[in-house]
Amino acid sequence: MGMNRVMCRMRMILFAVVLLSALIARAAWADPQKVLSAIDAHNNNCRAVSQKIFDFKELGQQEFKSSALLKEELQKLGFKVEGDLKVPADLVKDGISKTGFRAELAGKGPGPTITIMLEYDALKNGHACGHNLIATSGLLAAAGLAQVMKETPGRILVIGTPDEERGSLGGGKIALLEGGHFDGSDIVLITHPGDRWSVDQRLLAMKRATFIFKGKASHAAFAPHKGISALDAVILTFNGTDMLREHVRQDVRIHGIIKKGGDLVNVVPELAETEFSVRALDTATMEETYKKVINCAKAGELATGAKLEFKEPRTSLKAPIGIPAYTKMVLEQIRAIGVGDHEIKDFTEFASSDLGNVGHAYPTANLWFKIAPEGTPLHSDAFREAASSEEGWKATVVAAKVIALTAYDLLTHPDKVKAIQEKFQELKAKEGK
Ligand SMILES: [Zn+2]
Repeated sequence: MGMNRVMCRMRMILFAVVLLSALIARAAWADPQKVLSAIDAHNNNCRAVSQKIFDFKELGQQEFKSSALLKEELQKLGFKVEGDLKVPADLVKDGISKTGFRAELAGKGPGPTITIMLEYDALKNGHACGHNLIATSGLLAAAGLAQVMKETPGRILVIGTPDEERGSLGGGKIALLEGGHFDGSDIVLITHPGDRWSVDQRLLAMKRATFIFKGKASHAAFAPHKGISALDAVILTFNGTDMLREHVRQDVRIHGIIKKGGDLVNVVPELAETEFSVRALDTATMEETYKKVINCAKAGELATGAKLEFKEPRTSLKAPIGIPAYTKMVLEQIRAIGVGDHEIKDFTEFASSDLGNVGHAYPTANLWFKIAPEGTPLHSDAFREAASSEEGWKATVVAAKVIALTAYDLLTHPDKVKAIQEKFQELKAKEGK
């Protein structure tokens, strides 16, 4: 009995110590309200930054003024900013290393590294994809978090990722990933304006293939038997892929164009060129289909005798690994901040982006925020107008709050980060199976 009482008392003491240390730990963290107040305090300044980037409307690889402005603002917030980033020599396209940047703000002691990505490239018709708002929602979130980092564990990385719009031909994120500038990231956040609120629009992995066929010219009427038609090889490639299309999963996309198919109708085409894109909702399936498309081109070569020239491209776009628990976390923040359920909607159509490459390397959440009426297409003039509107800005501030609070939750709960990372690895291993 006496022993039991001692044990019982010891347990109570232990419980009290655990409770007390938990309370002390919680008290040591800042009130998330501080993050929100700092965002409100930076609202006007960031709005002005957004409008400037909107007016600069710099195309991919030329975003010099936009990136300089963002770097300056991050420096003002106390971030250690690094420009002139080294990327692999064969991926240095004009500008990427000059317009990409990496900014870091360390907190109090060890903890997770949360990376926020900013995009700021425009299209020919201006900021019709609203990347000025991606940049400034991220900047605003950084401003909110900067206010509390002195008392928060971990680290914030802000990575300026230029040249998104040219897809696999550009893709600042691919060069920056390969250059090691995401190294150390535990988890990644980004936003994108749209016609709805949503998290993690799935993206299609995508790889291009250019097939060049070299045949033999000959008079098409006088000596067709002496010619080898390169165009026939292209047509056979199309026939093969059309048959293949019947036997792939519904999300797989195979689309091609004929770039060269002969010059004169009375000459057997000596040279023909075709370009294909292969896409799927996971990278493994895309790669598998891609190999089959190459086989279709080889079949064209074999059947016609036209020699096939093909070199696999250096870069391709990957599909992000979606992590339901991470998506749910951001969705809960959207709801908690007051966005109505009727405004939150999944996407049913998909495209490709270099964002997928980041989402394939690190657990990544992409928050879509509504700046335009449902059905307004990205890249349209109407969407561009929304990207500098008052309504658009209001939504941008809400988006900034959502990602700042998500980041803060992750910084102060390393266990959540670890669970998301573990799930990410597990799902990645199962990709395409
Ligand atoms: Zn975009």
